[in-house]
Amino acid sequence: MTEPQSRPDETAEVPRPKAEMNLPEAEENPYVVVQRLLKKAVETLELPLSVYEILKKPRRFMTVSIPIRMDDGSVRNFTGYRSQHCDILGPTKGGVRFHPEVNEDEVKALSIWMSLKSAILGLPYGGGKGGVIVNPRELSERELEELSRGYIRELEAIIGPEKDIPAPDVNTNPQIMGWMLDEFDRLRGQNMPGMITGKPIILGGSLGRLEATGRGVVITILEAVKRLGLNPWGLTASIQGFGNVGSMTARFLHEQGIKVIAVNDALGGVFKEEGLDIPALLTFSRETGTVAGFPGARPLRGNELFAVPADIFVPAALENQITDETAPLLQAKIVAEAANGPTSSEGDQILREKGSFVIPDILCNSGGVTVSYFEWVQNAMHYYWPEEEVNEKLCAKMRQAFDVVYRMHLEHQVDMRSAAYMVGVSRLAEALFARGWVKKGKMSRGSLFH
Ligand code: NAD
Repeated sequence: MTEPQSRPDETAEVPRPKAEMNLPEAEENPYVVVQRLLKKAVETLELPLSVYEILKKPRRFMTVSIPIRMDDGSVRNFTGYRSQHCDILGPTKGGVRFHPEVNEDEVKALSIWMSLKSAILGLPYGGGKGGVIVNPRELSERELEELSRGYIRELEAIIGPEKDIPAPDVNTNPQIMGWMLDEFDRLRGQNMPGMITGKPIILGGSLGRLEATGRGVVITILEAVKRLGLNPWGLTASIQGFGNVGSMTARFLHEQGIKVIAVNDALGGVFKEEGLDIPALLTFSRETGTVAGFPGARPLRGNELFAVPADIFVPAALENQITDETAPLLQAKIVAEAANGPTSSEGDQILREKGSFVIPDILCNSGGVTVSYFEWVQNAMHYYWPEEEVNEKLCAKMRQAFDVVYRMHLEHQVDMRSAAYMVGVSRLAEALFARGWVKKGKMSRGSLFH
C-alpha cells in the first residue's frame, strides 16, 4: 500500500514574527531553514512526504521558569527551554546554551540538527537541545550554579540517561555539567553519570571530550583537503570564535602544520600573515578572556576577519554569520562549519557560486556528540578508555561519516549540505519504516546503510 501524501498546505509551518522570536530583522529563522532543507532531502530521495511531516517539528518542547535568588537578595525569573526532536533512534541528546538571544525557534532548529548529526554518524540517539535566556557574564558564580541546578530541577521529569541527555554548548562548560549532574543525582537519590555528558573527568567525563568538537572539525578539514587534492603544507586558516570549538580547532590546525592567520571573538580579533603563535594565543585568551590585544598581531575590527585571504574559513561562533554581506568577502576554498547554522540561505548561495567547498555543520561539528556518545557508553560500562582510544574511535567515525556524505554528494550531484541532509534523513526514514510509523510505499532508492 502506498502511503498517502500529506497535503502541502497542512505541512507548512507558519514562520513566527522575528520580533516575537528575539531575532534581529537581518537574521533568518533557523527553524524555517532546517525545515526547508529537510523537505528538500525527502523530495530528492523520493521518500513519502509523511517522513517530512513527522520530522518537521520536535515531538516535545518544554518552556520552564527558573526563579533565582540573586546575590543582592532580589529574585530574577529566567526562562529556559528544552526541545526533544525525535527519539526513534535512541534517547534524545544535545547541548544546553546560555545566551541572551536564545529563543524557541533556535532551540527547535538546533534539536533537529542534533537528530541529523546522530543519524549521519550512526549514533543511537535522537536530537535534543536546550537553552536559557541569560548573559552568564552578568551572574556571579553562585548565581550561575543556582541557575544550572534550577534548570535541571524544572526538567527532571523529562531527562535521564535513557530519555534525554544534555551536554555543553555556547557558554556552558564541564563545571556547569558537574552542577547539573549533582542536582539530578540528589533528586533521584542515586548516581546517574550517564544523564549528562561533557562533565568533569572525575565525575565520569570522557578523556578527549573537551577537545572532541575541534578535533572532529580538523579531521573533516583534512578529509576535504585530500578530496580536493590540496597540499596541506602552506595552507592558511581563519577562525571566527575562540571558545571551546574555535580554540581547539586552532590548536589542531596548528599541530597539523596549517597556519592560522586570523581569529576573532565577541570582543575583537587579531591577524598575522606569517601565522599566529597558537599555543601563546591559547594561554593569552585563557588569562584575559579574549584574543583581542594579543601582542605582535594586527587588530581586526567588524567584518575584517571575513576579508582575510585564508584558504580555510572556520565559523565557530553563532548562527547566521556568513550572509549576503559577509560571504562575498570570503576567499576560502574550504568553509568548515564548526558552529551550528553559521551560514544563511543567501550566504550559502553565494558560497556555491564562488565554488567554495562547504563542510556542513551537521557533519563538521559532530565530533562533540560522538565523544559524548563514547562518554555515555563508558558510564554505562563503568569502565573508562585511555584518551588515545577515544581519539582513534572518533577519527574512524568522522572519516566514515565524511565518506558517506561525500559519496552521496558525488552520486547525486548535490552540494555537501544537501548530501548530509540526505544521509541523515534516509537513516531516520529507515527507522520510521522499521517502527511502522510510515509505510515504505514506493521508495525508489535502497537503504544507504545495508
Ligand atoms: P563557546 O561559548 O565556548 O564560544 C563561543 C565563541 O564565540 C566565544 O569565543 C565568543 O566570544 C565568540 N563569539 C560570540 N559572538 C561572536 C561574534 N559575533 N563574532 C565573533 N565571535 C563571537 O561556545 P562553543 O561551545 O565553542 O560553541 C561554538 C559553536 O559551536 C556554537 O554554534 C555551538 O552550537 C557549536 N557546537 C559546539 C559544540 C561543543 O561541543 N561545545 C559541539 C557542536 C557544535
